[in-house]
Amino acid sequence: MSNTTTFWPRAIALIDMNAFFASVEQRDFPSLLGQPVVVTNGLRGSCVITCSYEARAHGVHTGMVLPQARKLCPKLVQRPARPEVYARVSTSIMRAIENICPDIEVFSIDEAFVDITPCQKLYSSPIHAAKLLKAAVYEASGLLCSLGLSGDKTTAKYAAKLQKPNGFTVIPPWDAKARLRHVPVTELCGIARGIGGFLANYGVTHCGDMEKLPISILARRFGNLGRRIWYMCQGEDPDPLHSEIAAPKSIGHGKVMPPDTRSRDVILTYAQHMAFKVGTRMRKHQLEARTFSIGLKTEFGWIGQKARLALFSDDQRKIYQLCREVIQAHWQGESVWQIQVTALDPQPAAMQLDLFAASAAEQQMQARLHLAMDGINQRYGALTLSPARLLGRSDMPNVIAPAWKPNGLRQTI
Ligand SMILES: [Mg+2]
Repeated sequence: MSNTTTFWPRAIALIDMNAFFASVEQRDFPSLLGQPVVVTNGLRGSCVITCSYEARAHGVHTGMVLPQARKLCPKLVQRPARPEVYARVSTSIMRAIENICPDIEVFSIDEAFVDITPCQKLYSSPIHAAKLLKAAVYEASGLLCSLGLSGDKTTAKYAAKLQKPNGFTVIPPWDAKARLRHVPVTELCGIARGIGGFLANYGVTHCGDMEKLPISILARRFGNLGRRIWYMCQGEDPDPLHSEIAAPKSIGHGKVMPPDTRSRDVILTYAQHMAFKVGTRMRKHQLEARTFSIGLKTEFGWIGQKARLALFSDDQRKIYQLCREVIQAHWQGESVWQIQVTALDPQPAAMQLDLFAASAAEQQMQARLHLAMDGINQRYGALTLSPARLLGRSDMPNVIAPAWKPNGLRQTI
């Protein structure tokens, strides 16, 4: 059976950018090429967000503290992160991928699953389509990626890990079970140590051990997730690509303010932060809203009102503008204890064109940029990327503490 002409029952690719942030730095500053580069949160950041392969060769890795990294590699070059640039690059990479195969799941700022199944005939084979994807990523960004191709998400992700940087690893679906047989279960994406310990108690340490364990044991303990894990280990992860997330009924964020806040500037900063959080959450759920409840709890009770936008939107700038108007109309200098901003009527984003926007293309670009920013914030902690007013305010308790933790925010199963 020839790989190049056979159609696959399912064909899933995982594209993973190599040392993404560090590679963008090396691309934009050629003097950094071949150098051990670490990217940190500003120049005062003390944690390695990501590092180039030259730094990795010395044992430096993500999450390491800088003094330790310097001990391993005295010639380390530190670069402050440029999140806006990374968001733009990510956005254009995702768009390039979609231009070839439209079914994608953006897994993180630098990773995407691509369902090649529906378009494999168009490109004559899954492998050829995957090659086009890899070339398109390079053309859009000038950056290398590692691509794993298989018949399911878990095996594709495992395949992408096998060869870095600039990898291209194919595990045809009919080989997946055999290829995973001697792989430790905890190497598969999503099998955290907790589940690994549970499986080890049943003598399952490697994927090949799984078929000896009745699926009912996993199902009883972990429900559907348990069933999925049973199939995952045998190269048959049934999970489809997720491009949408279940919609909530209302989306609100509130915050207690520092005692006795009477500063208009501080109140507006909190308002902008809440607008930012509401906008971020709406975009995460692909929702837009038109009516917002905006309230301030003052020494005399709640003030504020429901306010409406002209059109449905997920744009935090418009939400913040509403906040400004409401605060202007209702707040008269009394001390404020708390702020609450809630989208009352979130609906699936219709992608209606805002007639007042400069152009549809610009608006689409803005929407994509928001998505990429959300990805960075999700990975590195809230407000790694945010409007200028919110940056440099780390003296404000609990508002923009850069809560970055390596892998801390990823949901594992
Ligand atoms: Mg990566």
